[in-house]
Order: sequence, then C-alpha cells, then structure tokens
Amino acid sequence: MHAHRGNHIEYFRNYSPSLRSESPVKVELYPRYRRSKTFKVNGGDAGGGAAQTEKSEVAGSGNVTSQQLVDEPFAPGHDKGSCLSRYESGLYRKLSSHKPSPYLFSKLGSNESLHHNLFGPNSYNKTIASAFPFTLSSQTGPDEKQDNGTSAPEFLKQSGSRNDSSQSSRMPDDKLLGGLLAPGFDERSCLSRYRSSLFRKISPHKPSSYLLSKLRRYEDLHKRCGPRTKSYKKAFKRLKSGHGSSGGCNYLVWIPVNGLGNRMISLASTFLYALLTDRVLLVEVGNDMSGLFCEPFPNSSWILPKSFSHTVEFRNHYERYARGYGNQLKNGIINESMESINILPPPFFLTPTFNQEVQRMFPERETVFHHLGRYLFHPSNEAWGRIIRFYQAYLANADERIGLQIRVFNTKTTKAQTVLDELFKCTQKEKLLPQVDPQNPAAAPIQNQRSKAILVTSLYTEFYENISNTYWAKPTVTGEVIGVYQPSHDETQHFGDNMQNMKAWAEMYLLSMSDVLVTSGWSTFGYVAQGLGGLKPWVLYKIEEEHTRNPSCVRDLSMEPCFHHPPTYDCRRKKKMNAGSLFPYLKYCEDLNWGVKLVSDHQ
Ligand code: GDP
Repeated sequence: MHAHRGNHIEYFRNYSPSLRSESPVKVELYPRYRRSKTFKVNGGDAGGGAAQTEKSEVAGSGNVTSQQLVDEPFAPGHDKGSCLSRYESGLYRKLSSHKPSPYLFSKLGSNESLHHNLFGPNSYNKTIASAFPFTLSSQTGPDEKQDNGTSAPEFLKQSGSRNDSSQSSRMPDDKLLGGLLAPGFDERSCLSRYRSSLFRKISPHKPSSYLLSKLRRYEDLHKRCGPRTKSYKKAFKRLKSGHGSSGGCNYLVWIPVNGLGNRMISLASTFLYALLTDRVLLVEVGNDMSGLFCEPFPNSSWILPKSFSHTVEFRNHYERYARGYGNQLKNGIINESMESINILPPPFFLTPTFNQEVQRMFPERETVFHHLGRYLFHPSNEAWGRIIRFYQAYLANADERIGLQIRVFNTKTTKAQTVLDELFKCTQKEKLLPQVDPQNPAAAPIQNQRSKAILVTSLYTEFYENISNTYWAKPTVTGEVIGVYQPSHDETQHFGDNMQNMKAWAEMYLLSMSDVLVTSGWSTFGYVAQGLGGLKPWVLYKIEEEHTRNPSCVRDLSMEPCFHHPPTYDCRRKKKMNAGSLFPYLKYCEDLNWGVKLVSDHQ
C-alpha cells in the first residue's frame, strides 16, 4: 500500500482498487438487471436449443432462464443469508459471454450428485464433451452473436450520461456567476473560468450590483494601468528615477508568504483593499505559484513584472538601502505593498473610512471571500485538468459528496488516532457519515441504494486508510455504499514547492465541490474550500497536546474565513476593544475564540 510519490495515477493504482470500484457497480445495479437479455431454455431437454427472448417474456412462464443460472442456486435450498455471494455475484460481475450449454445446465440442475455425475468413472468423458461443446477457438462464435453487446457492463456505458443529465438538470447555465465574471475572455486559455458552474452548485448568494459595478470599474483601471501599458511604463520610469508623475495609476503589490491557503485569503483581501482605494493590484507569483491560476482581469495581467521586483527590494524595509521598499514608499512611488499575512476582510469593516463602502459592496456580510474568491481564483488548465479528472473518476457519480479536510499542525504532539476518534465522534454525532454494522459481514443490496463519496485531503495517509478500511470491512447500517478517495499525501509541508501548491489548489477546489464539508479548525486551507464552495462546514476543534473537546466539532457560523489576529486596541478611543462584539455581523470564531469572522446580520 505504498504510495508512489509524485505520481498521481500510480498512487491510486497501488492504493485501493477494490474500494474505487464500489460506486460504479452500485450505480447501475438495478438498471443493468432490467436490461439484460435472457435466454429461454427448455428445462431438462438436453437437445433443445436456446432461443433468445426478453426477460419479460419468460417471467412466470415456468421456464428457467440462463440469467437464473447465475442468480439462482445450482443446488437449490441453500440458506441465502449464510452465503450472500452465491446469489448476488451475478449482480456485480459482468454477464458472462460464455453461456453454459443446455446439457451442462441440465446436469447441474439435476438433483443427482453433481460430483458423481461429472467425475464418476463411467460418465467422465461423455459428460465433459457434452457439457463443454465450445472449444477455446470456437468460444467467441455463437455466444458473441447472442450476446449482442450485453456483456459490456452497462454501468460503464451509462455512467457518463447519468452524470451529464443530472448535472444539466441540477445546474442551469450560470457561467458568469451571477455577473461576477466579465464575458469575453478566451475560453480555451482558461477552461475553468466559464465551466465551474457546470460542476459546482449555483451560489444562492448573488453579488450586489454595487460590487459588480466596482469590479467593472476596476477592470478598466487595471487594463489602463496594468503591466505593458503606457501608464505602467511611466510609473515604472518614475519608480527607477524617483521623479515624474504616476500617470494617475497607483499600485498595490502583494508578496507571498506562508502556505497557499493563507496566501489566497490574503490575496482576496488585498484585492478588496485595491478596490476600496482605486489601486492596481500586482502579484508577485514567484516560482512556487506559477501556473496555478488564470489571469483574473480581462486584457491585462496581474503578475508583477520581474523588472519591477528587481527594482524594488520589497522585503527590505530599511530606508538605508537606496532602492529599498521603505524608501520607495516614503517617496510615494509605491503606494503600498502587502504581505500575505494577517490580512482579511474584517478590518475593513472595523475601519470607519471603509465601513460604509464595504457594507454597500457586501450587503450579505458573509460573502466577501465567497464572491471575491470566485471572481479571482480560476484554476489554470493544468490545475483544472487535475480537478476534473479526479472529480469525474471518483466523485461525480455519488449521490452525495463529503469533503473531510484533516490538517494536523503538529504530528509530534497530536496522534493520528486521536484525530480519527474525534473525527468519527463528529461525523456520527452530526450524522454526516453512516455507521457501520459490526454484526453483519455483508448486507443485502437494497432498492434505490444511495452512494456517498468521501474526499479526504490531508498531508498524511493514516486518515484515508482508516476511513476506507472501516467502510471496506463492514457494511453501513443504512445500506449506503461508501467510496473513500484521497488525491495526494505529501507527508510534509514544503515551502517553495510549485507542485505541492498545485496539488493543494486542486484539493481545495475539490473540497469546495462537496455537498457536506468537515474542516479542521485554524486551517486557512479549509477556509478557502468553504468560501469558494459557499459551504458552512462542521469544524473539528484543533487538538492541543492531546486535549480534546466535547463535542469534537461545531457547525461554523458562516462560510467566511476566520481572521486570526483582530485588533485589540481602539487607537481613536485609546482603549481596548472587543472586535467580536462591535457589530452584529462580526463574531468571534468557533474554532479560534479570539479570532473574528463575518456572519450574516440576522445571526
Ligand atoms: P494552513 O496552514 O492549514 O492554514 O493552510 P496553508 O494552505 O496556508 O498551508 C498549508 C500547506 O501545507 C498547503 O498550502 C499545502 O502545501 C500543504 N498541505 C496541508 N494540508 C494539505 C492537504 O490536505 N493536501 C495537500 N495537497 N497539501 C496540504
């Protein structure tokens, strides 16, 4: 069960093929049964040929069908419960293209001793010759004609259409996400931009018309001032020389720090700041974020040109360096730069200068990251390929998709078993996952059986292994079929690793496609998934030094990320402040009690 590092496909091949095959089998269980052709056989008549007919014709006729040869016992009278596989294997395995001869059928169906008939000293040669009339070379002849395509598993033929039709009925076309996205982008260069609505549920949260007008205005500004424009060149000249006019273009430069989840949240917040202050957002992508996202603004780029970063040393805040960032800022050349740390929307609501404006932009307070994230972050074609291939292979056909984001911040002080115990406590208490039936090794299939696909994301394999083993070892009490899937497990968090960020991005996006989401407290990785998906997750409390809480998880107050470092001092009034009690729409977070998050006003 060792994963093949760095090879996505191999990982799954080696991992758990038997579990992966569960859901397709289930999907067409009953339809396939209905569709299969059957063959009328004159029971007991060794010389009678097999006449092809529809199953409905033979029902109740008293004739035995070859389908029943598979479904019914060779020796009738077995206790069905004691050996479910005897009668059920025909429901799961492909219909064999090799039909037993009528003579074999009659021999097997007789009440005489099977062993004696087949291998008894007197009848051995005669029996074998009659029972197996098709030699190896002639096997494909007559049976292939009879089969007429039924040997191909129907679920494979049907699965695509089932999914397509359910998606098209479930998701009407909302490719511009309620007006959030500008039309007119080249679709092929960024397939995800206009196709996300085919895979994610339509958001019930509509962007305000004021937000839409701000975005369109911003796009014009970015087109006018972005890299490679006259205005940009002018500003760049001024930056180098320290003189001249800015040409009406002011810039805000974002610099990456921390993991991808942190970065995405701070990037969206920095963009909000750019919207509020009419600045042009430029992003230092670096090597480890290249090729992750599409360009978000039409006819322009948000990538900070290399020449710009070479001119200004952003990370050097000391004025003593002639070209240092501090010096440039002091001279008013760069308006501001923001590091991807500790920047979230709540401070804009806390600042009187911006409060009115952000309220107007987001009348539904808890939708700041939801809208801005959906506006900004479109997976590149490479990331989208990963997302869609995984989704279609493992998640699309399930009746329900459950995302489990399991983040362990310190593996030395937090045992995997403790995390698992807390996770199962949570999912059982909240009825998110079905319990298994310890009494029964196998459950009989039920009509309209439902399936659930569990997507596990984690740096580690233990959680996936345990959960998938749980559902492999025992049936669920509800009869639901459970598939468990994990796209990757890198074991450690690397910094500066482009491929790890690619996987992380794909996994955050896949989590956002869930119907039900469980996240880990304190993790911005989970915050991104819930915000993009418009999901209010169940949050597992962070386990500190093996100290757990009861209950082990809580339903989040909103889909917005939690801001971990709210201001604690009101400079104007010169006194301490409790950010979580100033406005009805700003509350202390469930997962981090000093952090604050935006919630709906009515909460
Ligand atoms: P946070 O530290 O949980 O707030 O999330 P960040 O995304 O900021 O940083 C964690 C980083 O560790 C991610 O960006 C990934 O590089 C890596 N990581 C953590 N959990 C996972 C996971 O479940 N899947 C993948 N692919 N990477 C993960």
